[in-house]
Amino acid sequence: VPKSGFAEAGADLELVGISKRFPGFTAIEELDLTIPAGSFFALLGPSGCGKTTTLRLIAGLEEPTAGRILIGGKDVTATKAYQRPVNTVFQSYALFPHMTILQNVAFGLKRRGIQNADALAHEALQLVELDHVAGRKPTQLSGGQQQRVALARAVVNRPALLLLDEPLGALDLKLRRQMQVELKDIQSEVGLTFLHVTHDQEEAMTMADTVAVMNKGRIEQMGAPQDLYELPHTAFVAKFLGQSNLFTGDVISSSSTSIVIDAAGSKIEVPTTRAQRTSGRVTVGVRPEKVTLHDSEPKPQSGRTVVGPGRITDVSFSGVSTQYEVTIPHLGAISVFAQNTSISTLHHDGDTVWLSWAVDHAFGLADEAE
Ligand code: ATP
Repeated sequence: VPKSGFAEAGADLELVGISKRFPGFTAIEELDLTIPAGSFFALLGPSGCGKTTTLRLIAGLEEPTAGRILIGGKDVTATKAYQRPVNTVFQSYALFPHMTILQNVAFGLKRRGIQNADALAHEALQLVELDHVAGRKPTQLSGGQQQRVALARAVVNRPALLLLDEPLGALDLKLRRQMQVELKDIQSEVGLTFLHVTHDQEEAMTMADTVAVMNKGRIEQMGAPQDLYELPHTAFVAKFLGQSNLFTGDVISSSSTSIVIDAAGSKIEVPTTRAQRTSGRVTVGVRPEKVTLHDSEPKPQSGRTVVGPGRITDVSFSGVSTQYEVTIPHLGAISVFAQNTSISTLHHDGDTVWLSWAVDHAFGLADEAE
């Protein structure tokens, strides 16, 4: 029986060697994952990568072909869905239309014979700031409000683990952004473990403490959002989280501090500590906002990589910044995001430019860009 107040902690979740094969198709391949209690964890990946299947396995709606699932240290692999300390909020938040908001939230508690169900439901509605509409029917609420009710209905059961499957997918962009902030606030207030599934990189990055990037049934990289962005390990992660300029070439020199690749005649340096590979053919990258434009060839400077000359082939001005595409012979098109400090700093289509960036901002990948 849940106590009053939302201070109860969540449980940690552990997936050990989880695989899921459907006839003729492997959806999940030997997945290992540990989510600490009380964290906000996001599983991020493109459509079809296996996110929903992973959630369904954790919820007990699907049985793994191999592996074990532990919640709070307890093996639940063979436990029935309704006996797991897990609740799921889906994109389609089916509220009971004939019941009031309060009845919707209290429903599960009442079914379990919990005495103070209404009081607990009011408390959960206060948490999502909707207690003032407790007496209304779902159709009298906006989409965002209905989504918050669905969340209250899940949280009121105090599951050790709350699974969120694209819960904001049906909302328009503005409401979505607002709900992202609210959801994060709610999670830190209740202290439950949240596992959020999304294909929206911005959503995963703004909300989660830890993001796991999933591709083709496997986790490619996992870490704090900023770390994933600053130092992607694979071409997939580099391209899926924000934009990257990627160059492939052979390593032509290496020291204890850095490696240099020759990419179609341009020499690009990467710190050894930021390179996943230090010999052979290597793909390196730099984010567009780290690249500086120059009207004339900059003097060689240690700690900076210079490429060029090239030509500006596209300019898109967006007020606070401008995005340029610079095409360098042999090397290809490179994106540059520049802050607009003054009109005199603007460059134009057809201008000849050189590019430079700090070596410390470059990263070297473990695989080759396609
Ligand atoms: P989306 O964001 O589009 O929902 P997802 O990452 O959640 O994608 P899943 O729904 O987990 O992806 O599906 C992963 C893969 O497994 C897909 O290629 C899907 O076609 C396949 N799959 C899912 N369920 C089954 C099933 N019952 N039988 C066969 N293949 C399935």
